[in-house]
Amino acid sequence: MELTLFLDHQCNLRCTYCYNGDKFTRRMDRETVRKSIDLALAGRPRHLDVSFFGGEPLIHVDLLRQAIEMTEKAISELPQPHPSVRFIVNTNATLIDDEVVAMLAAPRASTVFVSLDGDREIHDRFRVNVGGRGSFDDVIKGIDRLREGGIAYQIVAVVNMQTAAMLGRTLRACADLGSVKLTLAPNFRDEWDEASIEQLREGLHDAGDAWMEMFRAGRMFPIEPLHAKILTHLKGGIPCPSRCLLGGNEFCVTPTGRIYPCAQMVGEDRGGDLVIGHIDTGMNRDALAAMQKAKDRVEDTCAPCAIRDRCQSHCGCRHVALTGKLGEITATLCEVESAFIDEADRVAETLYSEQCPAFIEYYYKRNWVPAAGGVLTQLRRSRDVPA
Ligand code: SF4
Ligand code: SF4
Ligand code: SF4
Repeated sequence: MELTLFLDHQCNLRCTYCYNGDKFTRRMDRETVRKSIDLALAGRPRHLDVSFFGGEPLIHVDLLRQAIEMTEKAISELPQPHPSVRFIVNTNATLIDDEVVAMLAAPRASTVFVSLDGDREIHDRFRVNVGGRGSFDDVIKGIDRLREGGIAYQIVAVVNMQTAAMLGRTLRACADLGSVKLTLAPNFRDEWDEASIEQLREGLHDAGDAWMEMFRAGRMFPIEPLHAKILTHLKGGIPCPSRCLLGGNEFCVTPTGRIYPCAQMVGEDRGGDLVIGHIDTGMNRDALAAMQKAKDRVEDTCAPCAIRDRCQSHCGCRHVALTGKLGEITATLCEVESAFIDEADRVAETLYSEQCPAFIEYYYKRNWVPAAGGVLTQLRRSRDVPA
């Protein structure tokens, strides 16, 4: 179970592509936090992720700390066995100080998702502060603090049309910062066209080359969604375990108390048909079922497609970003997904044919766990797995 607390819309940055709308101040109150935790624990999950989102959640370190402590107290009062818990902070990393590091440090399990779009030039083109100054230096300082404090963190790099061709640079800039993973997140609100998709393919090719060099040097550094695309190949066309259930196993609460299936759908929190309940009245199961049904219309659209089992067309947020409606997509999604799948396959085929030890070790000698009902079909490639 994942509970996301959208603490406030306010943010100290003004990224030009931010999809969360106006940066007004509306802070979540303690009572909403408490009710959200109770709702998340009501089904007695075996594990709970509590994720903090915004806006910039570290604007309210005091509230974040209270939410962590309230969660731990609520769990301690449950009968045994207690669910395990992890805290996740989605942040621009410019406000990370010693207090934040101490709060997230072991023995607490925590992961920080840091938004960093690449090297200074790429990052500062979009991710600027209120005065228009680039935030790159502040992010790197925040990352340094996380590293010194031993906090696990992942980098999320938004991929925009204007910088898609520079993905190799993005990968190289992020690879040596000590993160446990890099996610390349295409901005589906961009006006992708044929030329920019071609640039994306070029950028991915360069990134793929850089990734292969890491494998050849004996290093495995997961880069999403390339890593996931290789796994979907290895798992033989079964649904990805992370396939989105849209509110089935996660929900997001905002300062107004509204519940959304996913933090990516909150925007300015104006209500509407993406709301699946309120913290005072609980989940609206009818609304959730209607949303899931609307989202699943994409299954009909994608039914004849050869790569549908490797495509993230199931992500409802992508539908909303592309068309404003659940269940409706555009060819942009197909083009972007195809570009990532093609590049993942190029990397995999190349390293497999070289019998690159780090690649073989990671993808062919691990016991990857298929999704429920799935069968692991590792041997779809032309050559046998080495002994
Ligand atoms: S840091 Fe996040 S919330 Fe803040 S402006 Fe940038 S994208 Fe928006
Ligand atoms: S590539 Fe396009 S048609 Fe195929 S599964 Fe993905 S979104 Fe659907
Ligand atoms: S809609 Fe997309 S971003 Fe939201 S939970 Fe589902 S897969 Fe994740």
